[in-house]
Amino acid sequence: MIRYPNALDEIETAVSAEAKGWLKKAQTRTSLFAKLGRYTNEIEATTGKKKKLSDFWGDVKPLYMRRQYNKCVYCETRLEGGAAGNIQWDLEHFRPKSAVSRWPSAKSTLLYDFDMGDSATVGYYLLAYHLHNYAAACKTCNSPYKSDHFPIGGERIFGLAHPDDYVGERALLVYPLGNGDDDPEDLITFTGERAEPKYTKEQDLHKWRRGRVMIDFFDLNRDGLQAQRAAWLLAVWSNRLLADKGEPFALKSLERLRSPRIPYSNCTKCFLDMCSANRPDAEKLIPILEEIVRISEDG
Ligand SMILES: [Zn+2]
Repeated sequence: MIRYPNALDEIETAVSAEAKGWLKKAQTRTSLFAKLGRYTNEIEATTGKKKKLSDFWGDVKPLYMRRQYNKCVYCETRLEGGAAGNIQWDLEHFRPKSAVSRWPSAKSTLLYDFDMGDSATVGYYLLAYHLHNYAAACKTCNSPYKSDHFPIGGERIFGLAHPDDYVGERALLVYPLGNGDDDPEDLITFTGERAEPKYTKEQDLHKWRRGRVMIDFFDLNRDGLQAQRAAWLLAVWSNRLLADKGEPFALKSLERLRSPRIPYSNCTKCFLDMCSANRPDAEKLIPILEEIVRISEDG
């Protein structure tokens, strides 16, 4: 996971250009939710019958896909971009719009000695159409992992109009598209293909909790994802070896591998740093990566 800094006014300008009338519609819909004190996708017509209200956040999904370089905002897997790729993506609400379910659920084996916040029957309804409450995610990260969960370390707040108003909740997840100080790379690091909290409890308790929770919440070490990162790192390693020999193409590629545009960017940068700072440890990882790939190929 990495940060994609996007100021709210930049996103608004892009939405105005690409989805004409969207901002006005969003304002009208948000006013309705403010009046009702909740999110809804139906209203009662004058005849007394229920009338469906179409949700339209999907209209801005392609804009978020592009701003994230066609990578899932949470797992950094690259998905197909453009109109044909649209179906592979969800436009996800960072803070759930209609209800909040407790995480971890009662069935989960995950145990923590710190609070995650209560469930709620009313969600963050005033953020249902807020452009700083959206991110483009792969369907696996969005559902079942993200779903309508939103763990927090403080008291849950509702009915405020801007995501910045919710700082007091002490969210345990990071919104990667914001322009604040939150940076997933300051919370999650990688040893080889494996995600780990960047800080220990002793170094910074809150940062350790956030890193731990984000890794567990999205199951960033799930088998399939680890195998994808392992295969990718083996290609990065080949590039590194060619660059060591002065191969011009490999040297150029090495620069590009530090760009936020590439898949598994956080993981890749951590691996390249290890290659530079501690080559023997990087070399020891290679047979492990090969074994992970082999197991995944054998199903
Ligand atoms: Zn994902």
